[in-house]
Amino acid sequence: MSWWCCIPKSKKGENPYSHGVSGIPPEKNIRLFSYSELRSATENFNRSNKIGRGGFGTVYKGTIRNGRDVAVKVLSAESRQGVREFLTEIDVITNVKHPNLVELIGCCVEGNNRILVYEYLENSSLDRALLGSNSEPANFTWSIRSAICIGIAKGLAYLHEEIASPIVHRDIKASNILLDKLYNPKIGDFGLAKLFPDNITHISTRVAGTTGYLAPEYAWHGQLTKRADIYSFGVLVLEIVSGKSSSRSLLADDKILLEKELVDSEMGDYPEEEVLRFIKTALFCTQAAAARRPSMPQVVTMLSKPIRINERELTAPGYIHDYNGTVSKATNSSNSRFKHSASDTSDMFSTVVPPTVSEISPR
Ligand code: ATP
Repeated sequence: MSWWCCIPKSKKGENPYSHGVSGIPPEKNIRLFSYSELRSATENFNRSNKIGRGGFGTVYKGTIRNGRDVAVKVLSAESRQGVREFLTEIDVITNVKHPNLVELIGCCVEGNNRILVYEYLENSSLDRALLGSNSEPANFTWSIRSAICIGIAKGLAYLHEEIASPIVHRDIKASNILLDKLYNPKIGDFGLAKLFPDNITHISTRVAGTTGYLAPEYAWHGQLTKRADIYSFGVLVLEIVSGKSSSRSLLADDKILLEKELVDSEMGDYPEEEVLRFIKTALFCTQAAAARRPSMPQVVTMLSKPIRINERELTAPGYIHDYNGTVSKATNSSNSRFKHSASDTSDMFSTVVPPTVSEISPR
């Protein structure tokens, strides 16, 4: 008998919560959906309710019994983990809450089915809304774009620095940023990577599919640290400012986005100095030398306060094709405007994050 068969059913045949379920500590608070509830929520996983397909499976829009709209992600790869580990991981994610993270409402584990149920975000993902072929970039004014960048930065700062067991997202990209009806950004899939071991092909496929966002040291040596997320975040900011997708252009030439005219011509009026500060921040995040990238709380400050950023501390951006495992090659082979330095972020931040108010240069 599989483990889920032991879950005691309520009168209506639902398993609303894991409280008291055998094998799961009572303090855990995972909402368990039955397969039949999710089937009826999505009208039998009807094609017309399909809202996307990613590396992990197909996503449907559904409406659960209390009338709430949800996004139902049916995982296509069978997790190698046992049911209990799957639920423990999900429980960790369920307890991680922030306004800029997509809320995981619950899951379904029946037989081979592994299904995740998320809050539904009305404006889809950033790649579709801003970068897709049917997108309307003109709707994305600078104030919307800057709020999106800052919101994502706050969500990542929370995952990296504000929870007991920090989470490295490792797949920060436009399709993992969801937008609610007011265009507030929410990071999705932030715990999903944890559910899949590193050595399975599925992850390799995902890595190959998102080349444009990969920090060189991660792509080449699998060195996964918070700094890899920060690199991806920098690429994302450049996409938001330019309205151009890095993963598409980078497939042909990984330097295109980092070197071309950046500001989206469809954006309308924008405050030049502020936009420049965002571009500089993104370039600090995409430096080849991982140790020189700012931390996410530093990034939040750089984006949200009108501080002066000392670009003389900026070193060359990291390109996967230049990278041979040493910072110097990546640095020397890139734009000579950038000063080479292998030290950590301390120089930059003695200037970038001013210790006194007088060092801040307001616009
Ligand atoms: P990958 O799995 O390789 O990261 P992906 O991020 O595109 O790719 P999914 O996370 O499965 O894959 O999402 C597929 C699409 O489904 C998203 O691009 C988005 O358009 C839609 N989607 C996912 N989650 C939600 C949600 N909570 N609300 C609304 N739409 C969603």
